[in-house]
Amino acid sequence: MVELKNVDVHYKDGGKGGVDALHNVNIRINDGEFVFVVGNSGAGKSTLLKLLTRELTPTNGRVFVNGYNLSKIKKRKLPYFRRSVGMIFQDFRLIPDMTVYENVAFVLRVIDKSNKYIRQRVPYVLNLVRLADKAKVKPTQLSGGEQQRVAIARAFAIDPGLIIADEPTGNIDPALSYEMVELLKDINKCGTTVIMVTHEHDLVQYFGGRIINLSSGSVAFDDYIEGEEDEDEGE
Ligand code: ADP
Repeated sequence: MVELKNVDVHYKDGGKGGVDALHNVNIRINDGEFVFVVGNSGAGKSTLLKLLTRELTPTNGRVFVNGYNLSKIKKRKLPYFRRSVGMIFQDFRLIPDMTVYENVAFVLRVIDKSNKYIRQRVPYVLNLVRLADKAKVKPTQLSGGEQQRVAIARAFAIDPGLIIADEPTGNIDPALSYEMVELLKDINKCGTTVIMVTHEHDLVQYFGGRIINLSSGSVAFDDYIEGEEDEDEGE
């Protein structure tokens, strides 16, 4: 579960008197939800994500993620919290001199998974993103869309309770954006909560579902919209 209660974030160094990046934000996302977060530049989206990964603590209010109270979490518990969240970035952040297989296996080694587990898990997640045949190649030999699929496989490999995708379609062919969301939806169906930040209105309109719209640091809209995808199915 993800919960923000009466959260304010004030940056002290943002010009005269600082900047109120978030103001009285209240959000609750239950386990298993898929949520799009939208909003103009400067609306507070990155600040929200930084709260959810505990890069930042709120000036006021409380943040809970996967059962951890992030305002109070002890330093020694941070690694356990971090391995409950999978991250996907706009710029993929793959390790260039490792193969696709190694990129995924690496995150599992970091969290001390057994070799046996890694040998089963890596092919499973690569298969899920339909990249089993690319296991031995380096990221530079892949298209942007394929690199992002590796990043999705890597995020899911650790079996996180929550996946946060920060503009995951920002650097790929727009035609592939839909495929990327479909993959995240498949992962979501396995029970992982997904929060995806995007500025692509077409995508959001197409898929619908729960949309949180941030505007000037506040939640301007938090509700479900019907997607065009649903309309297609009804025809
Ligand atoms: P978004 O991701 O929606 O573009 P941000 O969360 O990055 O929005 O920014 C929200 C507001 O906080 C903006 O006014 C931005 O200029 C300000 N801001 C972001 N990070 C900092 C920082 N480290 N120091 C000061 N101000 C910041």
